Amino acid sequence: MSRIVVTGGSGLLGSAVVRRLLDRGDQVVVVDNLITSSYDNIAGLAGRDAFEFVRHDVSKPFEIDGPVDVVMHMASPASPKDFGELPIQIMKVGGLGSHNTLGLARAKQAKFFLASTSEVYGDPLVHPQPETYWGNVNPVGPRGVYDEAKRFAEAMTMAYHRHHGLDVRIARIFNTYGPAMRLEDGRVVSNLLVQALQGRPLTIYGDGQQTRSFCYVDDEAEGLIRLVDSDYVGPMNIGNPDEFTMLELAQVVVEVTNSESDIVFEPLPVDDPAQRQPDIALARRVLGWEPTTSLRDGLVPTAEGFARRLGLG
Ligand code: UDP
Repeated sequence: MSRIVVTGGSGLLGSAVVRRLLDRGDQVVVVDNLITSSYDNIAGLAGRDAFEFVRHDVSKPFEIDGPVDVVMHMASPASPKDFGELPIQIMKVGGLGSHNTLGLARAKQAKFFLASTSEVYGDPLVHPQPETYWGNVNPVGPRGVYDEAKRFAEAMTMAYHRHHGLDVRIARIFNTYGPAMRLEDGRVVSNLLVQALQGRPLTIYGDGQQTRSFCYVDDEAEGLIRLVDSDYVGPMNIGNPDEFTMLELAQVVVEVTNSESDIVFEPLPVDDPAQRQPDIALARRVLGWEPTTSLRDGLVPTAEGFARRLGLG
């Protein structure tokens, strides 16, 4: 049994990780300021003895009483909509928040886990993306706040590893979805599902030929925990390699929701990556992990959760 601090533990992915850790007998301290997540995601866990919640912005220094075995730094706004609305907070949680959580791990002699992102690859010129690809990021574009904060966080994590001997893990997380997404999140899965369920037109940005590879939240959480448990230090892609165009995604959303919505095309956001697909050979080899939930199978419970919250289910 370990005592694990999870920053961002009430988010879509953080809450799925926290639930799995508690279910296997770990103690968990969630630290989250709830700016882009809902306490509802963890309210069902609050009664368990092994669960603690601290409301705090981890870009400001903080201390945790008692022993800590693992610090998982998962806090950050992560939707492109947030990049426009919370750019300074994103840079601070990726920069100062990473420094504070690395410092906590060092003080406690704990293992450190960084939730990094496929965004470190930017608009990738290598496809699919292996961990060895250094990326194609515009540092001064609207996405730069997230991409560069995470790149800084990776560099800082490796600096603590090399300079202080800290035991570290870095996961590069690709597009993840699930029932706990915010309805107003602004990302493609939540937008299209809400629109389809409400019978409104589905908004496709650009020509819809750009691709993403979507991982169901439970698969993603399992991969992240296996990485924490492993001995592998360098960055590792954790994502689902099944690649879809946005038009293909819209088709699956329409089928899963039995919607009669049409598609409307809207302008492509600045620096929107044209393609994205994880090469997960490393995760398969080192962790024996790969996703098992197809897009269609993952969208069914996601749509059900959305319908309930919209008062339609
Ligand atoms: N997108 C879209 N319609 C929407 C929201 C997003 O076509 O209502 C597109 C967006 O332009 C991008 C892809 O869907 O090409 C994935 O966008 P998302 O915001 O989910 O995440 P990203 O992978 O860009 O960070």
